[in-house]
Amino acid sequence: MKKLLVVLLLIFTGQALEAQNTSEKDAAMLEAIYKESLLNGNSYNWLDHLSNKIGGRLSGSINAQKAVQYTKEELEKLGLDRVWLQPVMVPKWVRGLKEYSFMETGPGVTSVMNICALGGSVATPNAGLKANVVEVTSLEELDSLGSKNIKGKIVFFNRPMRADLIQTFEAYGGCVDQRYSGAKQAAKYGAVGIVVRSMNLRNDDFPHTGAMSYGDLPASKRIPACAISTNDANKLSNTLKLIPELNFYFKQNCKTYPDVESHNVIGEITGSTYPNKYMIVGGHLDSWDLGDGSHDDGAGVVQSMDVLRLLKKTGYTPKHSIRVVLFMNEENGLRGGNAYATQATLKAENHVFALESDSGGFTPRGFSFDCDAANFSQIQSWQPLFKPYLIHYFEKGGSGADIGPLKKEGIVLAGLRPDSQRYFDYHHAENDTFDAVNKRELELGAATMTSLIYLMDTYGVKNSLTQIKK
Ligand SMILES: [Zn+2]
Repeated sequence: MKKLLVVLLLIFTGQALEAQNTSEKDAAMLEAIYKESLLNGNSYNWLDHLSNKIGGRLSGSINAQKAVQYTKEELEKLGLDRVWLQPVMVPKWVRGLKEYSFMETGPGVTSVMNICALGGSVATPNAGLKANVVEVTSLEELDSLGSKNIKGKIVFFNRPMRADLIQTFEAYGGCVDQRYSGAKQAAKYGAVGIVVRSMNLRNDDFPHTGAMSYGDLPASKRIPACAISTNDANKLSNTLKLIPELNFYFKQNCKTYPDVESHNVIGEITGSTYPNKYMIVGGHLDSWDLGDGSHDDGAGVVQSMDVLRLLKKTGYTPKHSIRVVLFMNEENGLRGGNAYATQATLKAENHVFALESDSGGFTPRGFSFDCDAANFSQIQSWQPLFKPYLIHYFEKGGSGADIGPLKKEGIVLAGLRPDSQRYFDYHHAENDTFDAVNKRELELGAATMTSLIYLMDTYGVKNSLTQIKK
């Protein structure tokens, strides 16, 4: 009995010691990753080039192609095992001349409003469009007003993002139906155009664009759609209360052309133990055209590129094949994300983990995960390793739009979750520029992502399906 106790004690001590050693090894690795990122990180230099030398990267534009070429060349310099372009057909929508708008409160009495066309919208007639305005705060309110109140008018969607929600993406999700489906719904009741309050928690003068859809509405029934700055949305709403018969005028020249070929940019370090199991990290290379897309999603692109550079610099040899994927066309089509997942299925590539950074380049707080309980509990056990870097947010929830199509049983999907309080000050607007991104915050994000990739690679995904199929 005594002997047995001694043996058991030795086993437990042995296990405890081993656990301590592993965790010390992991802690040292994370320290090396953060140190390299903060002292010699390259994410900020790459972002400088993407933002300032190239600029906004709308799908189908020359800038988007320049970004494909540039990031491919930069990945080639990292000494990865493979770098290649994956062709994908993308929509080509162009904004044309800058939009113009005013509110007319009496004959000849006008004040200029800050607007921009929504992505995918049709143009106004050449001379612009002028009509009375009906203000609503929801698609349901639109339905209740019906054709008799809407026909011939411009519908003004003015439901603000909820300021009381700490998770600003939730506030965005609670409003974006107005932008995405507003035109389609209003057109059914005979509206001639729509104006949508910008998805922005701050009161300022920047209109925020973003994707919209006409659904199955025939081309002849499509009406122009624009976003208005939050300041001007408030002004329009207040003035409508005094002068309900005021006119709103806007002119925009946007146009959709046939699809063009573009590319996802992919780089790979081939796995030493499981070359046929893939872990990917990525962001989207395209952006809207108003700013230079530094936060959305230049930040995610350069952080993902730096994950592979940091793994190499710290001398780590991954067991799984680690890929960086720079997706094309997240903003107005998700064609890149869909093409990547389709190719992965066709080639029977076993993807076990995917991480996306597409929530801005702000101070990282942690990650959200889309995975089963066994994997989530393994991930939660790593929390103490992240504590010294003030990373604490490990929650179940969404991951990223581009990696969403990879979802299948057993895969772990994750999204970097930076502080999101100021994200919607910049999202899809003219002020989403390089100066709005802080170098240190961006680098902390890259190190945080690299740390998670390192841990996932070291301990593997807990999945019976993928563990059998080596
Ligand atoms: Zn984005």
